[in-house]
Amino acid sequence: TPPLELTLVVAATARDMGIGANGGLPWTGLRKEMAYFARVTKRGDGNAVIMGRKTWDSIPPKFRPLRGRLNIVISRSFVPGLPKDPAGGPDASHVEASSLETALEYLRQRRKAAGTPGSGRVFVIGGAQIYAAALGLADARRVLLTRIMSDFSCDTFFPLALGSPTNAAAEAMADAPKWVQRSRAEHAAWIGEEVPEDVQTDNGTEYEFQMWERV
Ligand code: NDP
Repeated sequence: TPPLELTLVVAATARDMGIGANGGLPWTGLRKEMAYFARVTKRGDGNAVIMGRKTWDSIPPKFRPLRGRLNIVISRSFVPGLPKDPAGGPDASHVEASSLETALEYLRQRRKAAGTPGSGRVFVIGGAQIYAAALGLADARRVLLTRIMSDFSCDTFFPLALGSPTNAAAEAMADAPKWVQRSRAEHAAWIGEEVPEDVQTDNGTEYEFQMWERV
């Protein structure tokens, strides 16, 4: 079982790291981007995705839990302490955790048995509040960033600049750990598939895939 390290996965506007609007995504129809997210977070055995309660609510019920991954949802309204396995086991439903820390403690317990749900890679998939909590932990090693070149009006922002010029929240973290963009080859090696070199277009929206790591 690999060490527990966190990989944040996010799609954000290049201009100001915008990630959300009105409780949902600012854009629609990024089909190839969503397929990339699904492939990368599923590859290998027993991966987990951790998300905030508002992000869980934003997923249409018929698509949740996200298939083929252990889903962990974080809410202050959930029972404190170590989360319990849901009825039917972690594959059947989602795990409810009252904090990111207790979610990680739950995963540490599960990882003692290789091959079980939660023993693979751990992805933090949003939203802004849960990204901020994750970035406060040394376990957060990597960000898989889809940089959206087209501009969208947003009300929710990723709390780290990653090369974006105007993100006030990120500037407040100027003395935070240093993040560097990895090469396309390093990115491909980590995700286990080729990374397209050129700008992608879905539904008229332009974007590119990047990988950043904490150094
Ligand atoms: P989150 O998804 O981060 O969920 C916030 C909720 O998580 C809180 O209301 C609370 O739940 C719980 N929570 C937050 N911090 C803690 C904590 N420290 N301990 C326990 N529970 C906690 O919400 P955001 O509003 O930040 O982000 C949602 C937006 O982001 C949406 O617009 C969504 O579409 C977008 N998004 C965009 C992504 C992208 O890649 N572009 C990815 C994911 C989301 P409760 O209130 O129940 O206590």
